[in-house]
Amino acid sequence: MKKLTCIVCPLSCSLFIEEKEELKITGNKCERGIKYAKEEIRNPKRVLTTTVKIKDGIYPVIPVRTSKPIPKDYIFPLLKKLSEVELTAPIPSGYKVLENIFNLGIDVITTREMKKLNK
Ligand code: SF4
Repeated sequence: MKKLTCIVCPLSCSLFIEEKEELKITGNKCERGIKYAKEEIRNPKRVLTTTVKIKDGIYPVIPVRTSKPIPKDYIFPLLKKLSEVELTAPIPSGYKVLENIFNLGIDVITTREMKKLNK
C-alpha cells in the first residue's frame, strides 16, 4: 500500500492507495483527494519554477514558471532547454519565454518584470 499526502487543500489528508486491478483510495475526506491520488500515481505533474539568464537587467536572472503543471518526466529536459535561454531586459511579467513546450500546450512565462539596468 502506498501513502500520499493530499496537497489539494490545507487539510492535508493522508491517502492510502492499494493498486489492484483498479486503484483503491482511502483516507480522503472528499472526491478531490481521489482525483489527486489517481493523477499522482498514473501521471504525476508539477509546476516548474526556476530562473533564466537575462542580459542588461538589474539582476542577472529572472524567475519563470510553467503556465500549468507539466508531467514530471519533462522537468529535466525543460530545465536543460531553459539553461540555454538568455533574455534581454526590459521584460514584462507574464512574458512567454518558451511557447507550447514539448507540444503540451503549456508555456514558460516570467513571474516578474525586469527593468533595464541604467549604466
Ligand atoms: S482529500 Fe479533500 S479534504 Fe482532504 S486534503 Fe484533499 S482536497 Fe482536502
